[in-house]
Formats: sequence, C-alpha cells, structure tokens
Amino acid sequence: MRGGALIRESGVRYISTRGRAPALDFAGVLRAGLAEDGGLYVPEAWPRFSAKEIRALRGLSYAELVAKVMAPFVGDAVPDLPRLASATYAGFAHPAVVPLVQLETDLFLLELFHGPTLAFKDLAMQLLGRLFEELLDGESVTIVGATSGDTGAAAIEALKGRRGITVAILHPEGRVSEVQRRQMTTVTAANVGNIAIRGSFDDCQDLVKKMFADVAFRGEQRLSAVNSINWARIAAQIPYYFAAALALGAPDRMVAFSVPTGNFGNILAAWAAVQMGLPVERLVVACNQNDILARFLAANDMSLRPVRPSLSPSMDIQVSSNFERLLFELLDRDAAETERIMLNFRAGGRMAVPEAAWRHMGTLFQGFALDDPGTEVEIGRLWRAAGYLADPHTAIGIAGARARAPGQGVAMIAAATAHPAKFAPVVMRASGVSPPLPARLADLYQRPERFTVAANDLAAVEADVRTLAARNRAEGIKV
Ligand SMILES: *Cc1c(COP(=O)(O)O)cnc(C)c1O
Repeated sequence: MRGGALIRESGVRYISTRGRAPALDFAGVLRAGLAEDGGLYVPEAWPRFSAKEIRALRGLSYAELVAKVMAPFVGDAVPDLPRLASATYAGFAHPAVVPLVQLETDLFLLELFHGPTLAFKDLAMQLLGRLFEELLDGESVTIVGATSGDTGAAAIEALKGRRGITVAILHPEGRVSEVQRRQMTTVTAANVGNIAIRGSFDDCQDLVKKMFADVAFRGEQRLSAVNSINWARIAAQIPYYFAAALALGAPDRMVAFSVPTGNFGNILAAWAAVQMGLPVERLVVACNQNDILARFLAANDMSLRPVRPSLSPSMDIQVSSNFERLLFELLDRDAAETERIMLNFRAGGRMAVPEAAWRHMGTLFQGFALDDPGTEVEIGRLWRAAGYLADPHTAIGIAGARARAPGQGVAMIAAATAHPAKFAPVVMRASGVSPPLPARLADLYQRPERFTVAANDLAAVEADVRTLAARNRAEGIKV
C-alpha cells in the first residue's frame, strides 16, 4: 500500500476505484459523491505523517487537530479550514468534542455522540454542511437522500439554513423510531423537506437512485448527495482516531480500535489513519446479527443473506458500500480487478478475494458479531460493572473490544457511536435505567412536526422535491 510521493500543495487528487472516471480535487469529490464509473473516490496517494509529526499534534484542540489532519486531503480548496473546523465543533455539547471514558485498565470508550443529533455522523456531517456552502460558490444544489434513521437527521441538522442548498430526505413512513423521526421533522428551515414514503427503506433508496438516474431531473435540480460513500465524510472522520490515540500516548504507545460497523465508513476512517502513519495494533469490525463482514474475516466468504432487523438498526446492512475502498487497496490498486469482483458480487451475491489479499487484511482487521440477546446482556453488564449506559451499537463495539482484546499494554478504544437516549426503550429494558434526553433536546416531543407523505412513486416524489426547491429559492430571494 503506497504513501508519500505525489502530494502537492493543492492537496491530494482523487481517483476512482474502478479506474474510468476523471481524477478530481477535494471540491470535486465533495460535490460528486459517487464516481461516474460507479466506483468510489480514493486519494491518489496517502498523505503520511512521521512519528515526529504525530507527536507535534499533541495538545491541540479538537478543531485544530481536524484542520491539521485534513489539510493534505483538502489542499487549497478550502482556504479557511481552521476557522470552519472551529465554528463546526464549537456547536458540540462537550468541550473536548470527542471525550474518552475509561472502563477498565486498558479499555476506553471514545464518545462520538456529542453532536446535535446524538450520533457519530454529526462529526463529519456538521463539517460537510459548511464545506458544501463554502465550495458551492453561488451554485444552487438539491441534496436528496434516503434514511432509516441517523443519517437523515444528521444531514438535515448540518444543512438547514445553508445558502444555495435544498435538502430532501425520504424516510419510510412509520418505520423509523419516534426520536429519529422527530429529529428530522421538527426542523422547520425553509430549505429542508421531509418526505415520508409509503413503503420500506429499500423503496426510499430505490427512489433516490431513480432520481439520480433521471438525467433531466438530475440536471434541472443539480442533484447531489451526502451519503457515506462521499470521501469528504470519511476524511472528516479520520481526526478523532488521531485524537484518541494521541491522548493515550501515540505514537509511542500502541492502541487498537473496535468500531460498531454497518456501511464500513467509520472503520475505514480508522484504517485511513493507519495509512497516514498512526501506529494501530488491530481494528475490530464489530457487527450485529447481520454479520457478513465478520463471516468474511473468518473465512474469506462474503455472501449476502437477507437483512434481519436488530436492536442496532444503523448496522442492519447487507452490502457495506465503503468496503470497495479497502478492496481496491488490498488488490494493490488494480481497478479492473476491483470492478470485476464488485460486479460479480452484485450479480451473484458472493465475494471471495485472492487468498494473499485476504490474509493481508487479517493482519490488521478482526471480525466480531453479537446478536440481540447478547447486546442486551452487554448493556446490562456495563451498567452494573462500570455504571455506564451504552446504546446498543456502542455495546456491540465494547463487547468486540473485550472479545478481541490485544495484549497487555495496548490501549483498546471502542467507538461509542450513539447516545443511549436515542434507543431509550432497549437501554431501559436491559439496564433498568431510562437514559434522559440531553437538555438541548428535552422539548423534542413538544416541537411541531412538518413533513409530507408520498406514495412509492417516482413522479410524485420528484414533484414534491421540485416544490420544495422552488419554495426555498423564493424564500431565499425574500431575504
Ligand atoms: C451509521 C452508524 C453506525 C455504522 O457506521 P458505518 O460507518 O456505516 O459502518 C454505527 N452506529 C451508529 C449509531 C450509526 O449511526
């Protein structure tokens, strides 16, 4: 896996994992999301920090650290990254932004849920909202997305009131939790639209894909997306791995991470930190009962099974879209081979990678899976042993950290990806304690909601999006 050489002043350039899309700079990949050949954008070369350079990052504020770690990815596309980062993270509810909590001698939790929607997605999305506004340069865009919960709320919170941006989020009517729905539908900014679809999450996702495939509509609305395949989101998740490792003695002490995983975005950011020079002993891919990645790591067999809804819905996933980025690297950046394997996987529901590549992956990554009953047991155990209330996603990460603990002296850090209040009924059942909503969301159940309901029908949804964008432009002119 290569690093170093090709990085210029203007920042790295990005190439597609499938090798047939134009190389872009940071602003280009932010705007594009998916590459036009169906691949994902990755840096042309990995920026690398020496041990000395990593030591020099000690003692920075979180916002300062973000600016330093992201600078090589962003280049001169964003002249004022330090100011943007500082404005972004000032809005988080904890002064350390990503505090560490110690659970046992060598076991720590990295709390990533102090943003406005109480899940780790805020850390990247809040910065992306500002980057988008900054880089649009007067252009107006419509961002559409489908959500089963956390992503939609984080996107809406990050994009509300932003100049030039209309955001339309589709969710399956009656199939997201009440906290998650209210986090989306109580945002009343003119540029935000929530559309409840009479259908499933998959229907919502299909409608979004169809809007992108409708060339006329796509052009007319200048559609864009902020889903987890957007490289800018990955880049904005790398700094907290540096922050945690530095706080525990990196680069002079080894650390390891356990990450509750669904789409493979968060753990990919941890792996990117390793590419950049952060010494990491292991990365634990912690899954729920939808354990495709754990099965793959155990036996080089990635085979699709139907999704089984779980207590940790943000990890209920069949295909982890960001895995393609790692695959590309494991195949020594062979784009043709990456494409062949991915297309076969889509067609046949099964993937095996060359033996040597799979073994190489196993030198860093370890799989772990926990079902719903195990998750509840872990939540209860944590409460009794350490007085800590964990949400179901976090509990799986902690269980993975314990089950795959490295040797003595290595600090194992589990990512806490959601606030327990987001999943209060499960936490209550498992621990006997009901986690209260943080003060800033205490009146969530009193706030008025606004959303439209649409049939699972492309024309109807496109009409709703058009109306929303027109209303937003009209309001924009008034001010
Ligand atoms: C999105 C999410 C995950 C999964 O993260 P990926 O980047 O998709 O692997 C885990 N936990 C919570 C709470 C989430 O919202």
